[in-house]
Amino acid sequence: MRLVPVSGEVVILPAFSYSLAKLNQRDFVMSEDTIFGKIARGEADAKIVYEDDQCLAFRDMFPAAPMHILVIPRKPIPRLCDAEETDASLLGHMMLVANKVAEQEGLGDKFRLVINNGEGAGQSVFHLHMHIIGGRDLSWPPG
Ligand code: AMP
Repeated sequence: MRLVPVSGEVVILPAFSYSLAKLNQRDFVMSEDTIFGKIARGEADAKIVYEDDQCLAFRDMFPAAPMHILVIPRKPIPRLCDAEETDASLLGHMMLVANKVAEQEGLGDKFRLVINNGEGAGQSVFHLHMHIIGGRDLSWPPG
């Protein structure tokens, strides 16, 4: 790899920019500093509807349905595919919390859980989160 120092910085020539972009993307994905991490640590505001020692649930800022709540683990797992065997009980707990929140919100048995995994599947915040969507008819398949 050819490195060209400019004003004390290292510039990587265009031929290598793709691999640099991939590296940055991975670093970004592995970062703990997301808005959801901040909410989990109490450093950013959210309309929290449920919390316990493992996870919390709060209203989505741009709701896609009359009821749209996000359940996140306190542990900063970036994507579902980054979860490990040791996270099994945490993941199960998140689903039971989703049940509780749906009941609390009066949704009965009519709600949907969605996890967007990775940028290509629509994930925009790289702190694992489960969408609880309800309060209207939900069509299938989703877009
Ligand atoms: P996803 O596209 O699956 O990563 O979902 C991210 C969701 O987070 C979107 O539905 C956003 O509307 C929502 N969102 C982003 N920032 C905030 C925030 N600060 N508070 C609540 N919801 C947010």
